[in-house]
Amino acid sequence: MRETVSKRAPTLNLPHIAAGEGIVAVVVVALVAYAALYASPYGLRVLTVAGVYALATIGFQIVFGLGGALSLAQGAFFGLGAYATGILGSQWGWTFAATFPVSLLVPLAVALLVGLPVLRLESHYFALATLGIAQVVHLLAVNSPGLTGGANGLPGVPGIVLFGWAVPRGLPLAAIVWSFVAIGGLIAWTLARGRWGRALTLVRDDPLAAGTLGLDVGRLRLTAFALSAVYGGAAGALAVHTQRVVSPEVLEFPVMVSILTIAVVGGRGRVAGAILGAVLLIHLPEWFRFLERSYLLVYGVALLAAIVLAPHGLTGLIDRLFPPRPKPLPIPVAPPVPQPATGPVLQIADLGKSFGGVRAVDGVSLVLDAGSITGLIGPNGSGKTTVINLVSGLERPDQGRILLSGQDITGSDISGWRPDRIARAGIARTFQAVSLPPGATVLDAVAAARLDRDRSIVEAEAHALHILGRLNAADLAPRPCADLPAALRRRVELARALARQPSVLLLDEPAAGLTDAEKADLATHLRAIAATGTALLVVEHDMGFLLPLAGHVLCLDQGRILYDGPPEGVRSDPTVVAAYLGEGAA
Ligand code: ADP
Ligand code: MG
Repeated sequence: MRETVSKRAPTLNLPHIAAGEGIVAVVVVALVAYAALYASPYGLRVLTVAGVYALATIGFQIVFGLGGALSLAQGAFFGLGAYATGILGSQWGWTFAATFPVSLLVPLAVALLVGLPVLRLESHYFALATLGIAQVVHLLAVNSPGLTGGANGLPGVPGIVLFGWAVPRGLPLAAIVWSFVAIGGLIAWTLARGRWGRALTLVRDDPLAAGTLGLDVGRLRLTAFALSAVYGGAAGALAVHTQRVVSPEVLEFPVMVSILTIAVVGGRGRVAGAILGAVLLIHLPEWFRFLERSYLLVYGVALLAAIVLAPHGLTGLIDRLFPPRPKPLPIPVAPPVPQPATGPVLQIADLGKSFGGVRAVDGVSLVLDAGSITGLIGPNGSGKTTVINLVSGLERPDQGRILLSGQDITGSDISGWRPDRIARAGIARTFQAVSLPPGATVLDAVAAARLDRDRSIVEAEAHALHILGRLNAADLAPRPCADLPAALRRRVELARALARQPSVLLLDEPAAGLTDAEKADLATHLRAIAATGTALLVVEHDMGFLLPLAGHVLCLDQGRILYDGPPEGVRSDPTVVAAYLGEGAA
């Protein structure tokens, strides 16, 4: 109903190419020349292995770099792909055309199966659980000699056969492996720059906000994990074709450590980082081999130095040396306006929530009419933020009902009304403690609110710029969120919520930290927003700001409604004065 598509998408905003990618292009050309003209058979073998690791790490970048989840299962996915190819190729005589897809599907199936429960875990537990997957797969491989050859593995894995051509070792094999890197890299690069990649980085930077901006956090993480598994499996399959044997080594921890190191040294989240890192780290041991015994020490020191000197990896270093050109701003485009709601939009009945022994919200009922501004006041800890969390689905009520335009949207484990679905139904919110993704520009941050409905990032940015303009904040668009003072951060967060074109807007202390002039300006904007039919619920402490603004005020104390009436009656209500305003205000 609120889904809207703009007819006119500006074409000005060309995808910009960071220097990191440019340097990778140079490196790739150099590598091709080296491979074709100079490399020894051994050198080509090392280069092929580097390609295998590049591919595995490109996949790992999706879940770890973009998604921010430290998955230690990438080695297991690599091993699963390797064993699928190894077993089917050497025992069953399958050819590459048959084994390769299976090597992608097996890790994919495992990722989908274990992903759902595992991705719910907090970061450290997630890392441990994914490590557990790797351990289980390793144990299975070692302890089922009938299938896997046990500790000895399986020899006699056939080489790659493409369209009847048995790809020989050396240059042809290196070229084939690196073609897979190119294809996989291109796919990942396109995904990372598109809406999906943007959504995933928001999930990484601020999962709570991502949900309230209509993004299905669980599904995004699961697809990232699944996609990383496919890349891992592909790399494992190619590794086995290169070595012509499969053994439990492919499932051992060093594989995972290498992938992680390549991602960190190359640059987190960047396809270019995976490629640069893989070429460098797979070749380093070879370059240091002349040091014989002490090479591991030198290798370790070189690695540490790289991490200390380039904390954002090689691509980060390149970006610092050659800062990417700032993106041109799009032409602002007004997003299509949804049908304004009328009458009571949000109805809350007898809402309750306890945290342990604390009754944070206790039987709260309220109605928000379209186009109205309702104030929610009360002492600290009286449950105001919890009411907003319950309505936006970040907390689950243990009592009561929430209706949006007559539809029951009460969040619960069975109803499926999670924050993203509630957000898509038309509820937007801001946070008491403003949280904007630190690495993003203001335009990125506001455009994130439209990723679930606009067709492209270009369109989302054009709409976002228009919304920023409505709040007189268009000039902030190119600035990094991290640089903004508090008042402007609040303005940006309001723009982000507004970009959702909500029918209900919940604002948690929007005027906190603002000067009087800024508050007056905010009040004007809030009135204008309400005038378009949006129902506003404003939590605020500043009565001078709130009372002239609100048509209706509720006061909470210890989760209960103390006062529910017109703003004029608040200051003279004895219970409100006693619990909240104090004698001076009366
Ligand atoms: P307000 O926004 O009015 O200051 P809150 O809604 O943040 O109040 O908090 C209401 C009460 O619920 C407080 O006692 C607070 O400590 C408690 N509370 C809020 N959120 C949580 C939580 N996630 N876990 C435990 N207690 C909480
Ligand atoms: Mg609060």
